[in-house]
Amino acid sequence: MKKERILLRLCKMGGREQEYIDLAFRDNWVVPLGPNVDGFEQDLEKFLLPQDSHKKICALSSGTAAIHLGLVMLGVDKGDEVMVQSLTFSASANPVVYQGATPVFVDSEPETWNIDPELLDTSIKDRLEKTGRLPKAIVVVDLYGMPAKLDAITNVAKKWGIPILEDAAEAFGSEYKGEKCGNFGLYGALSFNGNKMITTSGGGALICPDEETRKRVASYATQSREPAPWYQHERIGFNYRMSNICAGIGRGQMMVAQEFINHHKWVQSVYREAFKDIPEIILHENPSPEFDSNFWLSTISISPQAKIKGDDGCGSPEALRRCLEKENIESRQIWKPMHLQPFFKDAPAYLNGCSEKIFNTGLCLPAGPWVGENELERVISTIKSSLQ
Ligand SMILES: *Cc1c(COP(=O)(O)O)cnc(C)c1O
Repeated sequence: MKKERILLRLCKMGGREQEYIDLAFRDNWVVPLGPNVDGFEQDLEKFLLPQDSHKKICALSSGTAAIHLGLVMLGVDKGDEVMVQSLTFSASANPVVYQGATPVFVDSEPETWNIDPELLDTSIKDRLEKTGRLPKAIVVVDLYGMPAKLDAITNVAKKWGIPILEDAAEAFGSEYKGEKCGNFGLYGALSFNGNKMITTSGGGALICPDEETRKRVASYATQSREPAPWYQHERIGFNYRMSNICAGIGRGQMMVAQEFINHHKWVQSVYREAFKDIPEIILHENPSPEFDSNFWLSTISISPQAKIKGDDGCGSPEALRRCLEKENIESRQIWKPMHLQPFFKDAPAYLNGCSEKIFNTGLCLPAGPWVGENELERVISTIKSSLQ
């Protein structure tokens, strides 16, 4: 009999989502604004923003839309360059191209797997020397929930006077030095896609520096209509606002968000215990107490000494992935760096070998609210028996 499938990260409803959706139907708020959108934004602000913050949050149709509007707000335009972490999902970089700008990829450092602050500094210097202009923005990612080295990165950004857009799509509830991810740039992007920490089926949000910028983002997201009796447009517009139905799911998810985060951290702790005596499997952990990852996915590196059953030269992550797949367990190789993607082959890139090494040795393991003790037992015993 085929064993039940264990998925990498499957969404789970908290139980109250349907009530908010019903409310939207009852009051006929089946549009991209309404009480659920307002309520969800307030829930997010309460959960994510520091106490005395002036920041405000605008709910949008996706994380990609959030990154795009963040770049628009930062004035990124045709011919500009934007520094982007290479080791990430393509949605961190694509919106740069939507704006007619060029992404300049920067490699990672091995502790957090995120953008290397020193390499960022020297690559900005080189861009200035080569093009005579400074990049317009820096896109920093908190990959798999792990906060980047945000102090050092902020210092580099300040030194050059370049604003940061923090892509916290995978880092909902992660903290760096006690502050929630998404707050470290001028703008911060969140995603509520189906596989993220909380979901609205599809959705995202942009953390904005204040109410004025939030209003501007909401205006861009609803076609930039000016207050006039006719349709008056003085700026480019987008259709990027979150629907009141999706926001209803979000309000229900916010009631269990902290439970989900705690569960992900517990899953990580079970992997930690299981792999502590297996030198071939290196669990990716917080490098110091300043970092508090949500462990959206638990990720491992496989040591070069490891021999995985069935490795026919495909590499140990792929060999291990196949072993897990045979047991009906989903796992996935680490994001393939953007500088290795055919679509971005002509983009400038500043490399140190780190992201390629992570890509060639790393694997994402199942996590999330559906992964309990039995599932973890199956994943761990399969990994153990895959080692020769
Ligand atoms: C998911 C994700 C996004 C995009 O979010 P969507 O809501 O899917 O558009 C952006 N960046 C990273 C790192 C992501 O993981």
